[in-house]
Amino acid sequence: MDIYAERILSKLGFNITHLKNRLLLVLILSLGIVNCNSPCAELTFQAPENSPYILPYPIGQVCELSQSYCSPWGHKNRLAYDIKMDIGQVITASRPGVVIETKNAFPDTDHQPGHNNRVVIKHVDGSLAWYAHLQQKNVYVNVGETLSYGDTLGKCGQSGRSGAIPHLHFEVFAARLYDYTDALPVSFSNIEGFEKYVGVLDTRIPLKALPY
Ligand SMILES: [Zn+2]
Repeated sequence: MDIYAERILSKLGFNITHLKNRLLLVLILSLGIVNCNSPCAELTFQAPENSPYILPYPIGQVCELSQSYCSPWGHKNRLAYDIKMDIGQVITASRPGVVIETKNAFPDTDHQPGHNNRVVIKHVDGSLAWYAHLQQKNVYVNVGETLSYGDTLGKCGQSGRSGAIPHLHFEVFAARLYDYTDALPVSFSNIEGFEKYVGVLDTRIPLKALPY
């Protein structure tokens, strides 16, 4: 029996030794309500003032999230932020590193899974940031390039499974690219009023990028 799920059920007042409750546990696990491989289970964030990440758009701009971490729609079990942007809005590097992957070929009308124009940056600690749904022919960096904070990566588009609202999908992995179980929670050091925004960011908060 899974310890994590067992702990949650006993907190809810279920006696897990009872057969009926064991069946309930099986049902809950099979519905994915408690997914023990999910990175959403226990999140530990760095204090924003110590975070090596800044918001991935230029200073002075204000964006909101269309989806936050672990939302039941596109980000179920995913530590990813969808940052609402206009088509053509500039996307910048959230953390310095080396570009290890780019895609620039998919038109905004191509919504097949995996067909997202993108940039992947490897940071000094081996972690990997994935910036997705960029605009065709508007990815400006190349594999092997070293980037600093705020360097322009490209422009926002709607390639891949981006849904109806144009946005940047931003997700960081500890080491295994595109493995959602390896994703890391990220805080940003340059949000206006950042001291109020410790933990998972809410979709209703306007996120203004301050100088860093
Ligand atoms: Zn997303």
